[in-house]
Amino acid sequence: MPIGRAQQARLQLDKAHQRSYNVPDYTTHFRKLVLTIGSGVSEEERLHRYVVGLQDNIREHVHMREPATFDEACQLATRYEAMKKSIQSKSFYYREPKHTAASSHTPMELGNMQRMQHNKQQSGQEPKKNTCFYCGKPGHYAKECRKKKYDASINRLNKGEKGQRRQGPSNQ
Ligand SMILES: [Zn+2]
Repeated sequence: MPIGRAQQARLQLDKAHQRSYNVPDYTTHFRKLVLTIGSGVSEEERLHRYVVGLQDNIREHVHMREPATFDEACQLATRYEAMKKSIQSKSFYYREPKHTAASSHTPMELGNMQRMQHNKQQSGQEPKKNTCFYCGKPGHYAKECRKKKYDASINRLNKGEKGQRRQGPSNQ
């Protein structure tokens, strides 16, 4: 039975990979496997297997630093992951306002673009159908023209004022 467990641990060690675990969890898992296997794992093999099982970017970092021992590799990986996390959390807080501003801008700009295209399509069709021949603007007929009604009301006021003045002395 002890041989079986050691063999199982050996198989697990060969496949050991950090995956989505953090470095301390992976390291703990790895150390347990090495302990279970016993004295059969050399320092060199431990170091190699551990570094190979790290996440790509952490492995590259640790590999570049060329750790001499398994423990050194653990320290490098742990420190690198901690540094990466602190950078990520900092940049996350710094970027957050910019990000939300950008994300609220993009749909609005897109919305305006779509609206503009929609208006172009509408204005492309409407001048033929109902362009106001009073003010020349599309979208309404002259009988619905606000400018025409406005002008007419001004005219009525002017005429009324003039008419009242004229009516008084000239007619009587
Ligand atoms: Zn008009």
